[in-house]
Amino acid sequence: MSTAIARPADERVNWTASIPFFLVHLLPLLAIFTGVTWQSVVLCVVLYYGRMFFITAGYHRYFSHKSYKTNRVFQSMLAFGGASAAQKGALWWASHHRLHHRYSDTELDIHSPQKGFWWSHVGWILANKFKETDYDLIKDYSKYPELVWLNKHDWVAPWSLGIASYLIAGWPGLLIGFFLSTVLLWHGTFTVNSLNHVFGRRRYATTDTSRNSAILAVWTMGEGWHNNHHYYAASARQGFFWWELDVSYYILKMLSWVGVVRDLKVPPARVKAAARVRDGQFDIGMFRAQWNKATATLTDAGQALAQNHLGAPADAAVPELVASPELVSASVGAPSGPTTVTAEAEQVLATATLDDHASRRDQVESALRSNKAALDECLQNALRQAEEFAKATRVGQRQLLAD
Ligand SMILES: [Zn+2]
Ligand SMILES: [Zn+2]
Repeated sequence: MSTAIARPADERVNWTASIPFFLVHLLPLLAIFTGVTWQSVVLCVVLYYGRMFFITAGYHRYFSHKSYKTNRVFQSMLAFGGASAAQKGALWWASHHRLHHRYSDTELDIHSPQKGFWWSHVGWILANKFKETDYDLIKDYSKYPELVWLNKHDWVAPWSLGIASYLIAGWPGLLIGFFLSTVLLWHGTFTVNSLNHVFGRRRYATTDTSRNSAILAVWTMGEGWHNNHHYYAASARQGFFWWELDVSYYILKMLSWVGVVRDLKVPPARVKAAARVRDGQFDIGMFRAQWNKATATLTDAGQALAQNHLGAPADAAVPELVASPELVSASVGAPSGPTTVTAEAEQVLATATLDDHASRRDQVESALRSNKAALDECLQNALRQAEEFAKATRVGQRQLLAD
C-alpha cells in the first residue's frame, strides 16, 4: 500500500546514525536505579514548558515567521534557549520550517503526513537529506555571526543544560529533569507536524491539511491552532479568539509590556472572519489530500490487477517461462523412442502457451498503461480546475471584503 504522496528515493531514514536518538528515549528508565525525587519532577515540568516557549515563540514565531521584533541580545537568548531543546540550531529549524509552509502537503513538503504519518512525525528528522542548513533560505538571520555560531555548535546549549540539571538535582535531575523532558519535548513539537495535519477541525480553507486542536494547544503552548497558523502565518498569536488558549502569545504580550519584544503581529478582524469552510469556502487543501489518496489507491489497484491477471509479479513471470522450454528440450534430447514424440508435442504446447501468455501479458499491460494515462490526464485537469475555482473564490471574497 503506497502513501498518498510518494517519497523520492533519497527521503529515507538513516537508521545507524539515528541510534543515539533512540537511546536517549531509554535513558530516563535508568531512574529505576537512582530513584525519582520531587525536585527532578518539578525540573522536568519546568524544562518542558520553559523550552517549549523557546521553540514556539523563538524558533517558530520569531525565526521562521518574523511575527514580532526584538533586540539582538534577546534574539540570541531565543536561539540559545531553543537550541537547549536539542532540536538543532535556530537557523536549521527555521529554514526547514519555511520550506514546510512554502510547499505544504505537496511532493516538495519535507514532512507532510501524506508521505506517511511516522515520516512526518520523526522520519524526516532522521534522514540524511535534511541534515544540513541552507543558509540562503534564512539570509535575514544568517547575517548575525552569533546565530551562525550557535547553529553550527548546536550541542553547546543542551550539554550545558544537562550538566546544570545534574548539578541542581543529581542523577534524577539529569535523567528525569533533563532527559525525560527532552524526549517529551521532542514529541510535543513533532505532533504539530504530524497530528496537527491529521486530527482536529478546519476553520479556514487553506491549501494544506492543517487542523485546529485544543488538546494539542495545551501541550504545545498554543501551537495546536495550526489551521489558524497556516491561514495567517505572519501572526504572533495563533489562538485567534479569547477561548483559544495560546500561552506562548500571553508571555510574548507580557514581554512587550516591558519592552523586550515589540510589534507583535495579529490578524485583522476581517481576515479572521474570511475564508471559512463553514461559510462554503471551497476547501482546496482537503480536496487535494483526498485526491492524492484516491490516485494512490487507483495506482495500487492497477498494480494488483496486473499481478492477478498474470498470476505472478511482473518481474518473476518472464524468467519462469523462459526456463520451462529448456526443461522441455532437455527431455527431448533423451534417447527414448516413444517418449520423444510426446516430448515434441509437449514442447509445441509449451511454446504456444508461452507465446499466448506473453501476448496476453502485453495486451493487459498496454491496456492498463493507456487507461492509466487517460485517467491521469483527466484527474490532473479536474484538479487544475478545482485549484482555479478555489483561487477565484479567494479573490472574490477579498474583493467583497474590500468593498
Ligand atoms: Zn509555521
Ligand atoms: Zn503545518
